[in-house]
Amino acid sequence: MLLYNTLTKKREEFVPITPGRVTMYVCGPTVYDFIHIGNARPMIVFDSLRRYFEHKGFEVNYVSNFTDVDDKIIRKSVEEGIPAQEVAERYIKECRQDMEHMNVKPATVHPRATEAIPGMIEMIQTLIDKGYAYEKNGTVYYRTRLFKEYGKLSHKNLDDLRSGFRDLKVSGEDEKEDPLDFVLWKPKKEGEPFWESPWSEGRPGWHIECSVMAKRFLGDTIDIHAGGEDLIFPHHENEIAQSEACNGVPFAHYWLHNAFLNIDNRKMSKSLGNFFTVREIEKTYNLQVLRLFMLSAHYRSPLNFSHELMESAKSAYERICNCVDNLNFLAGSAADGEMSGAEKELAAKNAEFTVRFDQSMEDDVNTADALSVIFDLVKFANSEVSGENSRAFVLAVKKQITDLGDILGLIFEQKREVLDSEIEELIAQRQAARREKDFKRADEIRGRLADMGITLLDTREGVKWKRA
Ligand code: AMP
Ligand code: ZN
Repeated sequence: MLLYNTLTKKREEFVPITPGRVTMYVCGPTVYDFIHIGNARPMIVFDSLRRYFEHKGFEVNYVSNFTDVDDKIIRKSVEEGIPAQEVAERYIKECRQDMEHMNVKPATVHPRATEAIPGMIEMIQTLIDKGYAYEKNGTVYYRTRLFKEYGKLSHKNLDDLRSGFRDLKVSGEDEKEDPLDFVLWKPKKEGEPFWESPWSEGRPGWHIECSVMAKRFLGDTIDIHAGGEDLIFPHHENEIAQSEACNGVPFAHYWLHNAFLNIDNRKMSKSLGNFFTVREIEKTYNLQVLRLFMLSAHYRSPLNFSHELMESAKSAYERICNCVDNLNFLAGSAADGEMSGAEKELAAKNAEFTVRFDQSMEDDVNTADALSVIFDLVKFANSEVSGENSRAFVLAVKKQITDLGDILGLIFEQKREVLDSEIEELIAQRQAARREKDFKRADEIRGRLADMGITLLDTREGVKWKRA
């Protein structure tokens, strides 16, 4: 599989550290409000990559953090007069709900920054001991110029950066040795949440949390580290500096970054105020439509949000769902028995759709092409599958569509609760068919019930049934 690696600026063959296993760390949201659909882009994209790995038989250890201590959370807690932890707790819960409705799988672990503070203190101490960090008045800074490879991820010219920083000097940071040095630990301000540390009562900087949580749950070197492209600098650059100076080994082999979700060609963000929350979108659209919209572009291409594009994603989604509905309907009345010779040939030929789908995903996660394979399969189903086909064939085509959808986390079939009365009505029809010796019809009905997940037991006391 080819993945574009920001570190090398090349598409590279993916080779996991341990065969059959993938370790992935994806930077998660700061939980001070509902997530917006820009935040949803990395969630959906990297969840689809994870699902593809799992489909290929890899065991994926997927870690994604919640940043639950931060200036914005503290500001909100002051505004609302409630503890910062309560703000974070509330929006973690809301975020998990949005993820579930977007069919984003929960991570193997969703660590919270505040649960990893002892590990952060330990890593900061190691960095101080190794000379990579220094303390000034309770603040601990990372000594950037000591990490020789600083800038290797963002491919930035450090001298240009330094002079830029000098022009924009932030007050209170005069004590830094170098404008590029960044904060690992800072003392509390009045009323802020704090933790004890050897340097001051305070709290960690943002970057250290990801280095520590990746180390704790995935090890010193991980396969894939991912997030939105705004994180390349300084966040990921700083994570590399911290982790590699502390652990003495490469931090991540592949660095993946999604491009922005834009509105009118500007990044959707809270600070610009040009955003829609996932919750708002859900009032108008099934979130499967949002998911399909996100996957309709390559993850490294900017994607412009508009209601026209959402409407066309909606009709595309409905086209697939209608096709699957129709296949279910055809299967209900299709003849039992094996596929005919011609059907077997067609089914073998249809395996090419799956091959093409996999090739698209192997090509740096080209979900746009992978989706177009599903549409080709829908076209095939709509024009070539009819009431003349065997149930086995109809169901095989349906399964191919729903299985490919599942790899992208797309659900095309709404599981409907089948009512007891519907089941009993079908059983009565089957009994009537048997009384009339219409065994073909009786078997058809048994097949339909089986498709609904209902098993029949013919007993001496009559027909009994159970749900699968
Ligand atoms: P934040 O809560 O701002 O740290 O963002 C959480 C994740 O969402 C990070 O991986 C960001 O890069 C990503 N992100 C934020 N805004 C956008 C956007 N407009 N488009 C794509 N990704 C975004
Ligand atoms: Zn991070």
